[in-house]
Amino acid sequence: MKQTVVLKVDSQKPDIEKVRAAASIIRKGGLVAFPTETVYGLGADALNPKAVLALFEAKKRPMDNPPIVHVENINDVYRLAEQVPPNADKLMKAFWPGPLTLVFKRSDTVPDITVAGLDTIAVRMPQHPVALALIRESCRPIAAPSANLAGKPSPTSADHVLDDLNGRIDAILDGGPTRIGVESTVLDLSVDPAMVLRPGGTPLEALRKVLGDVKLHPFVVAEKELPIEKTRSPGMKHKHYAPKAQVILVEGAVSAVMATIKSLISTYWLQDKRVGVLATDETAWAYEADVVKSLGSRRNVDAMAANLFRLLREFDEENVDAIVAESVPTEGLGLAVMNRLRKASGYNIIKAG
Ligand code: AMP
Ligand code: MG
Repeated sequence: MKQTVVLKVDSQKPDIEKVRAAASIIRKGGLVAFPTETVYGLGADALNPKAVLALFEAKKRPMDNPPIVHVENINDVYRLAEQVPPNADKLMKAFWPGPLTLVFKRSDTVPDITVAGLDTIAVRMPQHPVALALIRESCRPIAAPSANLAGKPSPTSADHVLDDLNGRIDAILDGGPTRIGVESTVLDLSVDPAMVLRPGGTPLEALRKVLGDVKLHPFVVAEKELPIEKTRSPGMKHKHYAPKAQVILVEGAVSAVMATIKSLISTYWLQDKRVGVLATDETAWAYEADVVKSLGSRRNVDAMAANLFRLLREFDEENVDAIVAESVPTEGLGLAVMNRLRKASGYNIIKAG
């Protein structure tokens, strides 16, 4: 076990001495968690294979899932990528620093382990002052996946990071809760038209305004309808973002969703199970369950995104056996929220109505 040092910093004007202490850990091959505007990342020197190996080990992350490499200026992109297509320039101008990750053909300067042996690299410039200061003071690109144990909901506060990684990493820069709450949008530019591999903090609608045609990878909108009897079988293979309890996602028009959730609660109660409902401000009043939490108003998908991972973690503390979640509108960040809910459910999706 390592001693994980917590360095509290102001999120807008971080204490430079603390950032330098963290940067010196990165330069020596250590692991530092830090806030970005999306979620907390777990950083390692992207050009140091041993550091990146330690990163995978600390998170228990499968070695075939590469991290995103974070930079603080656009010149670094040209060192990491072999080719920067013209539409990338437009996107970097429009969205960087910000929650958009671009996938490029990679250059030879990048160690194989950092890109999990792929011939591409995912790069982003985060918008958070602490993240930018850490990268700058480290003087190297920082590989940073989300700072959670693989499979768990991503961390949106330093406490979430410590819950998963205390004793497994060297330090954490605690800059308070993150603003956006879901990870960056991952966009593949090696295909034409560009394709979203993961919906996230930059809405699809905004990308289309800049690029025109943008496709969603079929995986992004993947759903598999399961009959109710089968929703209890463990879909562990596809689980991500998962709290301890089984998540069941109910999709459809709001009134039909509410009716289905009420009937699911009755079924679980007959089986002596504790049930949580992940509702919205407009609907939460209507449920009688062991625990009811609201993601926020259905008219404010940004707030729902900001609350999602925290609420999934809070349900763990309530010891519920099942979490029944309402679907949410898929415009803006709602697409990312729905994608995370579907994955969290292991595709235990019920179509209501
Ligand atoms: P995380 O770092 O936990 O936010 O996850 C990083 C995401 O970026 C994962 O979904 C990866 O599969 C994806 N990613 C990283 N590198 C690449 C790449 N070269 N091509 C496509 N996706 C990537
Ligand atoms: Mg992650």
